[in-house]
Amino acid sequence: MRYLENNFDVIVVGGGHAGCEAAISAARLGAKVLLCSLNLDNIALMPCNPAVGGPAKSTLVREIDALGGVMGEAADATYVQMKILNSSKGPAVRALRAQSDKKEYMHYMRNIIESTDNIYLKQCCITDLIVKDNKIIGAIDEYGNEYKSPTVILTTGTSLDGRIFIGLKSYRAGRLGEMPAIGLSDSLRKLGFNVKKLKTGTPCRIDKRTVDYSKMTIQPGDEKLHFYSFKPNRPIRKQVPCYLTRTTEETHKIIKENLDKSPMYQGLIHGVGPRYCPSIEDKIIRFASNPSHHIFIEPEGLGTYELYIQGFSTSLPSDVQTKMVRSLPGLEKAHIIKPAYAVEYDYIPAVQTSHSLMTKLIKGLFCAGQINGTSGYEEAAAQGLLAGINAFNYINGSDMLELSRSSSYLGTLVDDLVTKDIEEPYRMLTSRSEYRLLLRQDNADARLTETGHKIGLVDDVQYNRYKEKQLCIQNEIDRLSKTKISASEEVNSILAEVGEHIDRGIRLSELIKRPNITYDIIKRIDYETEMRNLSEDVTDEVEVLIKYDGYLKRQEIQVEQATKLEKYRIPDNIDYSTINHISTETKEKLAKIRPKTLAQASRIGGVKPADISVLMVMLSK
Ligand SMILES: Cc1cc2nc3c(=O)[nH]c(=O)nc-3n(C[C@H](O)[C@H](O)[C@H](O)COP(=O)(O)OP(=O)(O)OC[C@H]3O[C@@H](n4cnc5c(N)ncnc54)[C@H](O)[C@@H]3O)c2cc1C
Repeated sequence: MRYLENNFDVIVVGGGHAGCEAAISAARLGAKVLLCSLNLDNIALMPCNPAVGGPAKSTLVREIDALGGVMGEAADATYVQMKILNSSKGPAVRALRAQSDKKEYMHYMRNIIESTDNIYLKQCCITDLIVKDNKIIGAIDEYGNEYKSPTVILTTGTSLDGRIFIGLKSYRAGRLGEMPAIGLSDSLRKLGFNVKKLKTGTPCRIDKRTVDYSKMTIQPGDEKLHFYSFKPNRPIRKQVPCYLTRTTEETHKIIKENLDKSPMYQGLIHGVGPRYCPSIEDKIIRFASNPSHHIFIEPEGLGTYELYIQGFSTSLPSDVQTKMVRSLPGLEKAHIIKPAYAVEYDYIPAVQTSHSLMTKLIKGLFCAGQINGTSGYEEAAAQGLLAGINAFNYINGSDMLELSRSSSYLGTLVDDLVTKDIEEPYRMLTSRSEYRLLLRQDNADARLTETGHKIGLVDDVQYNRYKEKQLCIQNEIDRLSKTKISASEEVNSILAEVGEHIDRGIRLSELIKRPNITYDIIKRIDYETEMRNLSEDVTDEVEVLIKYDGYLKRQEIQVEQATKLEKYRIPDNIDYSTINHISTETKEKLAKIRPKTLAQASRIGGVKPADISVLMVMLSK
């Protein structure tokens, strides 16, 4: 029996990282949103690492912020440690990482949701979709309640037909202590979607009071604080350290002796796991010559004893887990609060989705986050934001927001998902971008604030602040390229501290190009630079733009060249089977993915330059 509950503009299925951004963005733009989730007390839960950011992921968080999303703001408001990773390396790989207070993060996000007009919450499990003439018109929950809406955004995470494995025991669940989402996978299959399985895992959580930190190496946060959000009012909070320990010979022995109890190694799990977050048993088998692996002990928050053991994910039985944990220096007496587990879940390979994140089969149906085959909070949140914006655009008949690879990691992420057949959880890495020097975490605002403002998610105050910052950056670059400093004894004594020297007068912009010269040094040798007292956001950017000017220009030329192929649009109704001089395999791939441009076609695995030439000739005709 179905009951008509209400009418909405957008239904978001899932209150995880993708669902939160999707609901908030669509509602802030003016849509009436229903946010359904299996357990509303778990909104924005971090079921794995209590941390936001890291290489490439931090850039995604800054991009979310620049477009008007909320993840950066929430991470800034709830950190227990902030750290810049790869600080000694180039700007393309520098990354902010926030250790988060897991509970506070959830509360913060829930508060934003509850204070956003137009979002209606519902604790339920969406089990079916209502579709008419290939258009979505609503969704149904497990009680038979029917919700009408011209758009539905699926952000089901690891819950879709989820099954948890701990040793050889398994049971249906999406995450530890949370029911699975049953029914929706079948509904999607009936609609014609190809639904497949992936797997991920998480380590156990231990009691802080049973840990001997004296046997570990302390890992403090940075003294100098950095933040994600480009908005002001950044909170100064208490920072707590993480600790580093390592696996021992004993750990490796226990794991090897118990592999017959591993659901992975016994073939009980069929889904592929994340290559870049392997389980500890995978690491020990795959890197057998490595006698030890780093293990980080990270707090789950300020108000809890729970500690997360990063790098120690496993699906071995709980008694084996206890032995494994107690073989780590400092954890000999550790008490496990929550066991480690693996979870296998359904996803919809995103080649069935377009760049707007709307599915190709059903109009108005969007997918974002783990359901698209990704892994990670940041990847999920970024897609959720895009899906929320485009659901709003769809109901208003506006153009879909599609981001290019050269504009952002988000554009790169989505293009990879919809173009390549993803067979393992996709995590964002700096190496996935051919333009990674252009797509830095420090310039996300320069790349995307205009877009966020145009959409309506970035308000005038933030927009004007961004404009002012860009003006300051440009003025300072101009000033440094006009200002000459003389080769005085005083100047050279400061330069000598970093192994530099000048024989004659030099422009400051030339001097800062030298690898050892930072803006801080320039400040010390030039009175006017010191007096200007520019914010670090500005001076960091000035330094990067001058230092890497040559490389940046080279990447800009690359972008221009790639854009030429982007201009060759491929008609939607093209019949690839009729094209001569292309292999059957390539025709099948093109027909499956249906690239929108020659550039996208060229990125499909197995499509050769010769195939692109054939397509180009055909399109020119
Ligand atoms: C055990 C485990 C290990 C992980 N390990 C890693 C890792 O190593 N590295 C990494 O980067 N990421 C890892 N993650 C993944 C990370 O948690 C996710 O990538 C991220 O949370 C995905 O965000 P999401 O919004 O897509 O889904 P989630 O955050 O999972 O949120 C999905 C939400 O949808 C709700 N939901 C699902 N189906 C329905 C339905 N039918 N009706 C109503 N509500 C529904 C759920 O209740 C949940 O609230 C792990 C996750 C888990 C569970």
